[in-house]
Amino acid sequence: MERMQCDCCGHVYDKDEGDAKNNVPAGTAWKDVPADYKCPECGSGKDTFIIE
Ligand SMILES: [Zn+2]
Repeated sequence: MERMQCDCCGHVYDKDEGDAKNNVPAGTAWKDVPADYKCPECGSGKDTFIIE
């Protein structure tokens, strides 16, 4: 289980769910999420996310 939280809006990336809006399949580890990933809620970049 790996969860990362957007430091801007609080959106949580859950490894077990992935992110359909960003075409990230379920089970994708945060380190394997593309570098150009954007928060689906506020559009912040991957480096805005912190460990929940
Ligand atoms: Zn956000």
